[in-house]
Amino acid sequence: MPEFRTEPLVVPTVSGLLPAGERDRRVALTSFRPEGERVQVPMREIICYECGQSSRVPSAALSANCLHCHTHLNMADVEIRPGSRRLTVRTLGNVYVPSATVLSHLSVVCSNMDVDGRVSGSFRCTGTLSLNTSMVLDGAVSAGKLVVDKGAEVELTVGAAAEQVEIYGRLKGRLQCKGQLHVYRSGAYEGVCKAADVVVDPGGRFDDQSRF
Ligand SMILES: [Zn+2]
Repeated sequence: MPEFRTEPLVVPTVSGLLPAGERDRRVALTSFRPEGERVQVPMREIICYECGQSSRVPSAALSANCLHCHTHLNMADVEIRPGSRRLTVRTLGNVYVPSATVLSHLSVVCSNMDVDGRVSGSFRCTGTLSLNTSMVLDGAVSAGKLVVDKGAEVELTVGAAAEQVEIYGRLKGRLQCKGQLHVYRSGAYEGVCKAADVVVDPGGRFDDQSRF
């Protein structure tokens, strides 16, 4: 079957003629393709944030429905601006919180999250959760990688779970780390910690209170 293409064949040019390269490209686009040759739409795999199962969707899609639980999945990147009334964010994209944003009771599920503002609530990131400023997080926090940036003082009221933790600033609170917890030179950790592997650079402080 020939493919239907919506691309206009006639484009206005000054001379009325298309450059040779562009003309050849358009001729190729509208020619019949040999049997069996199919255009490959680039696809990517997504993990549903409701049921945890994977689906394949076109890479360019901005939303999709989970093939398993039919949840509508948002894939757009979201910026949580100051004064935002939207406190619940569910996306397979990334979330950015600019420094002017001060918000509590947030509930965020996303891929990567970069926090320059002062927020509180619960956060679930499949990728990296980067906390770049001081804040008290009073909800459950989980991330693939949790990063506390230099100069930031972060307190976890409920606690956090992560595959990997990097501490350049100060982190206080209950922590569960399936992989490596790394406290860098400028970093300090204090709390009840369960980590598979702990690395503390010279100058860093690691105060695990679970031993007492
Ligand atoms: Zn699902």
